[in-house]
Amino acid sequence: MAAKIISGTEVAGQIREELRKEVTELKEKHNVIPGLVTILVGENPASISYVTGKQKTAKELGFYSLQDNQPDNITEEVLLGLIDKYNNDPKIHGILVQLPLPKHINETEVLYAINPKKDVDGFHPVNLGKLMIGEADYLPCTPAGVQQLLIRSNVETSGAEVVVVGRSNIVGKPVTNILLQKQKGANATVTICHTGTKDMASHTRRADILIVAAGKPKAITADMVKEGAIVIDVGVNRIGKSESGKAILCGDVDFEAVKEKAGAITPVPGGVGPMTITMLMMNTVKSAKVHAGLV
Ligand code: NAP
Repeated sequence: MAAKIISGTEVAGQIREELRKEVTELKEKHNVIPGLVTILVGENPASISYVTGKQKTAKELGFYSLQDNQPDNITEEVLLGLIDKYNNDPKIHGILVQLPLPKHINETEVLYAINPKKDVDGFHPVNLGKLMIGEADYLPCTPAGVQQLLIRSNVETSGAEVVVVGRSNIVGKPVTNILLQKQKGANATVTICHTGTKDMASHTRRADILIVAAGKPKAITADMVKEGAIVIDVGVNRIGKSESGKAILCGDVDFEAVKEKAGAITPVPGGVGPMTITMLMMNTVKSAKVHAGLV
């Protein structure tokens, strides 16, 4: 039987509706407007499109949203000064610096400069450390989106065998940490695979829930998946362009073959992607409430 398709577009839509109501209530009852600034350095087309998507969603939800475009010859000192300004701006609750940054700027220094309480991307080491000990304020957006997809699709994670393919700091490691916590929507037994893993298929075939973030088109084939498994495909690979010039995307999972074997699967596009921006919005609303002393 073909797998159920877990639609990130649909789940993200539900969460955005909840956030819209929450933002209206925050304004009406507490005069609080969540504020998000996205800082874009240079003119990388992919970065422009990501930042535009984030700003568009923030505006749709009724946020105070600010896009700060900077030339790619900006110095690190000036960029750090800007971050300091937003760290101290009471209208701003979330600061997002779009990566990658030009080579002359030290990305780590820049991310470390963001006030952890305004780090709605969840990449500051303070927030990653808090995640490790199960006390996260802000979860990194893509891993948080994966967890929400599981929760809202009624997938039982407690006691499940989860296998994560990929150990990046932005997806693989944080999603592993989220799902192994002794908490609701987690409490799984998690294995993490990477390029040093011997016989990866022997791990993936054991997975009740398989999460793939390798950045390799169709790396997961049907023979690597257990019958009935839940498959979450984080990968976004550009494999060509359509006649109209639009990028053709595919995930890290061979969707057509695996959907015949899995119990449920996320598509690419329309799976994890829409969840990422939505989690950024969720973190910003949370930050606005924290700054207003409401939580
Ligand atoms: P990354 O930093 O390149 O990390 C990839 C990880 O996968 C590494 O840990 C690598 O292992 C592992 N890996 C690569 N090929 C493998 C293989 N054949 N077998 C086993 N492990 C393998 O990538 P990332 O930033 O985590 O992103 C992963 C994918 O998710 C990309 O396609 C990216 O575009 C996508 N993504 C999507 C969203 C979204 O919103 N939907 C957000 C972020 C990322 P080593 O550590 O050994 O090198």
